[in-house]
Amino acid sequence: MTIPEHIAQTNGSSRISYELLPPVKGSSINTIYETLDQLMPFNPPFINITYHREEVSYLKQPDGSLKPSVVRKRPGTVGIAAAIMAKYKVDVVPHIICGGFSRQETEDALIDLDFLGIRNLLVVRGDGDKITGRFKPNPQGHRYASGLIEQIIAMNNGFYYEQYVQNPTHTHFSVGVAGYPEKHAESPNLEEDLFFLKQKVEKGAEYIVTQMFFDNQVFFNFVKKCREAGIKVPIIPGLKPVSIKEHLHVLPRTFNLTIPSDLVKEMNKCKDNQQVRQVGVEWTTNQIKELIANGHNFVHIYTMGKVDHIIKISENVL
Ligand code: FAD
Repeated sequence: MTIPEHIAQTNGSSRISYELLPPVKGSSINTIYETLDQLMPFNPPFINITYHREEVSYLKQPDGSLKPSVVRKRPGTVGIAAAIMAKYKVDVVPHIICGGFSRQETEDALIDLDFLGIRNLLVVRGDGDKITGRFKPNPQGHRYASGLIEQIIAMNNGFYYEQYVQNPTHTHFSVGVAGYPEKHAESPNLEEDLFFLKQKVEKGAEYIVTQMFFDNQVFFNFVKKCREAGIKVPIIPGLKPVSIKEHLHVLPRTFNLTIPSDLVKEMNKCKDNQQVRQVGVEWTTNQIKELIANGHNFVHIYTMGKVDHIIKISENVL
């Protein structure tokens, strides 16, 4: 089933989808299963699996010096998606990115996904370089998510990038995209960002999942502005409970977002991260309850690692 079909089917009931990261290279897929065994009782409509491109890491040498090396720390997105779908009979949404891929490599990745029976994709550009912050596309790849959407929709219509392909089969991908209630970091303002968000929808995106936010009013304003701009597709709020004190500084810097002063005050009162986790549970629970009360009964939660706090939130709201 596609994600818009899931949304249409909820009939007013509340649902939570979860986003997982592939485990770090060398870990067993059992770490994913252990997490999902705890989350599946909440009957998630779908599970997202993020994609992580290669990055430069400084590896310690025997003489103590640091050598820059290109490493891919979290491979396995496609394999994990297929394994989850087979084991739990749940829809999966692997993320697919522009960064690091040529159009030809993207085409081959899409063929793998199609052969595995995966229909739903979350299409994102990928982050900029960790040091410079600048996004550098593959010379034969896509600079923006909208270009990648075009390629996917072309395949759905039977047009492949490789010209020699004869009688190409039509794929049936359904595409979701990212939206930013507090604007994307590189965008000069929200209006400009919405212009390009609308472009992604016009190219074929069927729904939007938002970047995390901690103030529901920011999300409500974003939805209003999207609707005024003519963006009509479903907008799924993305949430992340704070769980460590460092989040106060890391999240705003990494994701270009604001943490409301009431939440900052509560976190500053905490003596340890156990208390921060409790504050995170309460804050996100209240956010979800208010979202549901305002008709947004489909919510997406970003999980990173342990999920005990996410289980509590799910119990509180479902
Ligand atoms: P785009 O839509 O391409 O936009 C990037 C910037 O360019 C924006 O500022 C936009 O306004 C502007 N823009 C867009 N089109 C044009 C144009 N034609 N001309 C000029 N400017 C334009 N990253 C990963 O690496 N892996 C993941 O799995 C992943 N999953 C994510 C899931 C969600 C729900 C979210 C919100 C983000 C995710 N990201 C992921 C992070 C994402 O890759 C970054 O936020 C990235 O910087 C932007 O991706 P995008 O698809 O929104 O980019």
